Amino acid sequence: MAFRVLIVDDSPVMRAFVRRVLDVSGLDVGAVFEACDGVEALELLDREWVDVVLTDINMPNMDGEEFVAHLLERNSSAPVPVIVISTDGTVARMEHLRALGVRGYLAKPFLPEALRLEVEKVVGVCDAR
Ligand SMILES: [Mg+2]
Repeated sequence: MAFRVLIVDDSPVMRAFVRRVLDVSGLDVGAVFEACDGVEALELLDREWVDVVLTDINMPNMDGEEFVAHLLERNSSAPVPVIVISTDGTVARMEHLRALGVRGYLAKPFLPEALRLEVEKVVGVCDAR
């Protein structure tokens, strides 16, 4: 079944790159939404259901860490899987994000295949094939 993705990044170039990677990944992507920071992402998620969130960390207004904390708190019974895509790949940062409930982590720059694998892990594409 096609899944729905939200890409959160303040860089339009990075959002376009992630969208392109998903397009050519072979994954069954049904809809792709974009937001430029945590505030916009939370507003969008008030209106739209998504199966996975791909988020940057360093963004204006509300950064990725605050966004993830809000998101996972308000959906604590059925949390949306979140994959972080950030230049900050320090162990301390990753451990903190895992503790918040983040399911996957990709350090920029990343290979398209690495993104595909992270997304596959959380959307369970192998079901019934
Ligand atoms: Mg950024």
